[in-house]
Amino acid sequence: MTRERARTERRDLDKERGEPLAGGAGRGGSPRSLRAHARPLGEWSSRPRILVTNDDGVESRGLLALKQALDPMGDVTVVAPDTNQSAVGHQKTLMRPLRVRERTLGDGSLAYSVDGSPTDAVSLAFLGYFGYGFDLVAAGINYGANLGDDITYSGTVSAAMEAVINDCPAFAISQEYYEHPDFALAARAATTVARNILEHGLSPGELINVNVPAVPLEEFDGVEITRLGKRVYQDELVQRVDPRGIPYFWIGGPPPSGLAVEGTDFHAVINRRIAVTPIHLDLTGRRLLKRLRTWDWTLPEAEPEGR
Ligand code: MN
Repeated sequence: MTRERARTERRDLDKERGEPLAGGAGRGGSPRSLRAHARPLGEWSSRPRILVTNDDGVESRGLLALKQALDPMGDVTVVAPDTNQSAVGHQKTLMRPLRVRERTLGDGSLAYSVDGSPTDAVSLAFLGYFGYGFDLVAAGINYGANLGDDITYSGTVSAAMEAVINDCPAFAISQEYYEHPDFALAARAATTVARNILEHGLSPGELINVNVPAVPLEEFDGVEITRLGKRVYQDELVQRVDPRGIPYFWIGGPPPSGLAVEGTDFHAVINRRIAVTPIHLDLTGRRLLKRLRTWDWTLPEAEPEGR
C-alpha cells in the first residue's frame, strides 16, 4: 500500500469515528439522540443522567458502592441482572421474554432487576424502558479484575460496550479479589473516571476499562493509563459423577495469572496502581487487513454438470 493510500484510510477512519461525544442533548426525546459536546461538570445545565449496571447481579455490594459513588454527580438509575451473570460476555436474550422487577437497594433506593444479561439491562434502558436517555453508563464495581483477554468474556465490559453501541459514553470498573471486599478505593476511582468522561467526552466506539488493585485506600500508588495485557488462564476440566451415575464436567482450576509487561493493565494492578485502559469497539485487525490484500482470493471453478 502506498503511503498516500494509508493516509487516506486513516483519514476515513477518523471521519468514521467522528467527534467526541458525551451525552447531554435531546435527553427528553429520543433515547438515542445523545451526541453533545463535553463540558466541565459545573457547566452542565442539568444534572447528567447516569445508568449504573453490573454483571454480578442487583444484590452485589459493588453495584451499590458504584451507585453511591456517582449519586452526587448526577441522576442515577440502577438496572442490573437479577442473578450473577459473570462471564456471559455480550449475550443478548432474543428467544424468550424479559421480566423487569422493582427492587430496593441496601441504602433504601429504588433499582430494577432483569432476568437476563448485563447487555439486556442496558438494551432495555436504551430501547426506552425508562422514557429518557442517558449521558453516561457505568458498569461495576465488579468483584474480580477484568484484565487483558478477560474483556472478551466479561459481562461488565460488555454492558459498557452495549452503551457504546447505543452512542452513549461508558466505562467498566472492576476490583481485584480481596479477602475483605472493600470498594472504597474503587468508588473513588469511579467518581474520577465519570467526571473525566463527562468533561472530556469519548468518541464513537470508545469506552474505558478500569481495574482497581486489592489494596486499602492508603496503599495505592496512583493511576496509570495502560494497554490490555496478556492473560494466562490455568483452566482445568474437572470431571465428576452426578447422583444418577452420569459424568458431568466443570471448568475449574486455579485463578488465572497474566504477563506483567510494563505498560499493561496487569503491570499497573500488580504494582498497586489503578489501571485505566482505553478500549475501541473496532476490532479490525489492521496488520492482517494489509496481509489479506496480498493473498489470492480467487474462488474455485464450478464443478462441471453431471459428475
Ligand atoms: Mn462479575
